[in-house]
Amino acid sequence: MTDLERYETDAIRVTYDSGVCVHAAECIRGLPEVFNADAQPWIQPQHADPNAVAEQVKRCPSGALQYQFLKQPQ
Ligand code: SF4
Repeated sequence: MTDLERYETDAIRVTYDSGVCVHAAECIRGLPEVFNADAQPWIQPQHADPNAVAEQVKRCPSGALQYQFLKQPQ
């Protein structure tokens, strides 16, 4: 069973599957203003440009992070 978490702004939705994450911390190193294990919630996509969030999500080595633009990025 997957445990899919969902975080979104009006521009982008980020989903996270904790069962898939390999805890490489690539996301936290790459974009700490959005991915912060000490914050609540730990993913806050409103803190960066949606394109930057998407680029970081693409670097997730496990595929635990996925994104979907909810409107066309500027
Ligand atoms: S980059 Fe992906 S695999 Fe690595 S900690 Fe973040 S969500 Fe998990």
